[in-house]
Amino acid sequence: MPETTLAAAAIRWYDENARDLPWREPDVGAWAILVSEIMLQQTPVVRVLPAWRAWLSRWPTPAALAADTPAEAIRMWGRLGYPRRALRLRECAVAIVERHSGVVPTDLDALLALPGVGTYTARAVATFAYGQRHPVVDTNVRRFVARAVAGEPDAGPATRPADLVATEALLPAEPVRAARASAAFMELGALICTARTPRCADCPVTEVCAWRASGRPAPTGPTRRPQQYAGTDRQVRGLLLAVLREATGPVPHERLDLVWADAAQRSRALAGLVADGLVELVGDACVLAGDRPG
Ligand code: SF4
Repeated sequence: MPETTLAAAAIRWYDENARDLPWREPDVGAWAILVSEIMLQQTPVVRVLPAWRAWLSRWPTPAALAADTPAEAIRMWGRLGYPRRALRLRECAVAIVERHSGVVPTDLDALLALPGVGTYTARAVATFAYGQRHPVVDTNVRRFVARAVAGEPDAGPATRPADLVATEALLPAEPVRAARASAAFMELGALICTARTPRCADCPVTEVCAWRASGRPAPTGPTRRPQQYAGTDRQVRGLLLAVLREATGPVPHERLDLVWADAAQRSRALAGLVADGLVELVGDACVLAGDRPG
């Protein structure tokens, strides 16, 4: 089966089975798609949906976000996790205003040059917002391609150039159709060719999948353990930020001391927030970045 036929089967399946997600609506602009891609990187769809709507209702354009403070971006990010993304997204909005007159650029290199926009996000925006032909490779796509084409049980460590080449080889030549194929591969990886329990019986490419054809050999590498959250510095950072998000002025250290009993871990987490540019020290108190009293 030629690889473009694999794309055709994936697109047919996608046309009938894709989730109805608001950032896939035809009238959604590049800014809304960029925001969705950054939010979705490390956060499940169900948590992103309300945050994405709230974000765009407050900041419908890059210029609107660029005009607001980093602290407000961190507040709006709420409990989505990995809050540095809020800062990067605001920096990205500022760069779009300064370099591109407030319009998300169409050119891949210009997208790649924006703060917080990496290989994946730049290609996702160029593809899904502007209908260009680029391989869009996230974890789900890497796994789908590794199984369907290479017959591997898992994708193994990311090898960016090789991943891009392997996925590009599957894309139809026509850009809009290639963009559809990219969306289909992502959706298949998210819903059908999942990490733990691939649903091969429901998969549109099951007849040509190399991994299924070879009897679904088990992975031989070390089993990846799920990431812990409870008790980690990440949890403490989240608790500290939650207090600072709610505050209307500087928060004294004594107030922050109440969120976590282990003083060493608490100061390590706070130092991390300061180093990441999320929090600023003001005397014996702390504020969110950009919230320093005038
Ligand atoms: S047949 Fe199974 S392993 Fe192959 S691509 Fe489909 S879900 Fe993944």
